[in-house]
Amino acid sequence: TKSKDWDASTLFPGIEVITDPVQVAKLSQDYHTFSPVLQPKLAGKTGDVVVRPVNEAEVLRVAAACVEYKIPLTVRGAGTGNYGQCVPLHGGVILDMTRMQEILWVKPGVARVEAGVKLAQLDKKAREIGWEMRMAPSTYRTATIGGFIAGGSGGIGSINYGLLGDRGNLLALKVITMEDQPRVIELRGDDVQKVNHAWGVNGIITELEIPLAPAYPWAEIIVTFDDFMTSAKFGQTLADADGMIKKLICLTAWPIPTYFTALRSYLPDNTHAALLIVSETSLEPLQDLVQQFDGKITYQKSAQDAGKGFNIAEFTWNHTTLHARNVDSSLTYLQSVFPPDKNLSLVEELYYHFGGEVMMHLEFLRIAGVAVPAGLQVVRFTTEERLNEIIHYHEKRGIFIPNPHVHILEDGGRKTVDIAQVKFKEMVDPYGLMNPGKMRGWMERT
Ligand code: FAD
Repeated sequence: TKSKDWDASTLFPGIEVITDPVQVAKLSQDYHTFSPVLQPKLAGKTGDVVVRPVNEAEVLRVAAACVEYKIPLTVRGAGTGNYGQCVPLHGGVILDMTRMQEILWVKPGVARVEAGVKLAQLDKKAREIGWEMRMAPSTYRTATIGGFIAGGSGGIGSINYGLLGDRGNLLALKVITMEDQPRVIELRGDDVQKVNHAWGVNGIITELEIPLAPAYPWAEIIVTFDDFMTSAKFGQTLADADGMIKKLICLTAWPIPTYFTALRSYLPDNTHAALLIVSETSLEPLQDLVQQFDGKITYQKSAQDAGKGFNIAEFTWNHTTLHARNVDSSLTYLQSVFPPDKNLSLVEELYYHFGGEVMMHLEFLRIAGVAVPAGLQVVRFTTEERLNEIIHYHEKRGIFIPNPHVHILEDGGRKTVDIAQVKFKEMVDPYGLMNPGKMRGWMERT
């Protein structure tokens, strides 16, 4: 659909608009730059203008104007996605949701928020009544809840609650459509999956109802081990220990700990590090478990000191890659989900097979009730061919690779076209204006 001529200064009266090209270019970026494969593919892609609505009425007006003038619209939260999800491939409007920050209500076990609320902001509010988010990415301080649902997968807490796509981890969504007459639609129950993790291609999320978890007094701990496989088995055992309350089990093989410059005094040379968040009530059993696996606790921060010093979570999940790349920007990463196996035989095989080329970083999470390690390996990049070879080596062994080096929704995490999501797009975005070029099921429909 060809767009009519439009002028940003008159099209959105009364709504905040950014037209400065430097700012617009900045707000067209995300963290796809972690991937040397995506970098050249998305270089130079920018929107024409950034629009920053403060409420639903303004979003409706932006949607109506974009439909009238057939302007592509790419929704943006904090822009921390890793797949170029919010990089506009065809210019147009960047709809920045970060001014929609109202926490509408919080009740025991559930909260309703506007899409631009930051995860840390909701956590703080929920803790006032003893609850917190079930899971959060390591970007929780900046990322928005709308962006996490539309573009994320899981994180700290996933050891207890699984992934965002699991039934029950998102209760309701309100979306604004891009029809000739934009509408507000509320999705509940299984219907939320039509928009969950759809990268903003089929509806502008304005509100979300998110289930919460009971908040514990969380302690942060670093344990080091001389042998990597012993540390991995410690991680699996802690993940399986139903009586021990935890929300983060991150394992990093040497030399990854050398990239954590702020933690170096707790990470002796040639040791492998477990970064943990465990309830203070489980610290005694943790000591026994550490002893059983010949580990050494080198750091411990109590819940009371949570706000002091560094946050251990900000060295885990994809922050591990961030720290590695800060030291050596030629490094990149891989994402992998290992099949359940208490002996971790595949982890062991790959750890030795790739050595320093694919450095082992594991995050434990729960998939269909079973605790498994997910890899966010740090990869020494040489060529795209070699990276694909590494990916195939994993896939041949039954390891699932949600490929972080692609910018098409279906090519990364899910690998298959989600018909319900495409059908929903046909209804709410008939002109294909939303984040165009990202959904294979839409581009290849007949
Ligand atoms: P954005 O990047 O702004 O947007 C993500 C996608 O959602 C885009 O497609 C955008 O169009 C769409 N979108 C945003 N808001 C809306 C809306 N209101 N309506 C419709 N669509 C919308 N992810 C994890 O899952 N777990 C992790 O632990 C994790 N760790 C990370 C660590 C680092 C260092 C980095 C750089 C990234 C990490 N990520 C992780 C990826 C990312 O940070 C998260 O997915 C984050 O939640 C995205 O939120 P955001 O507000 O930045 O979204």
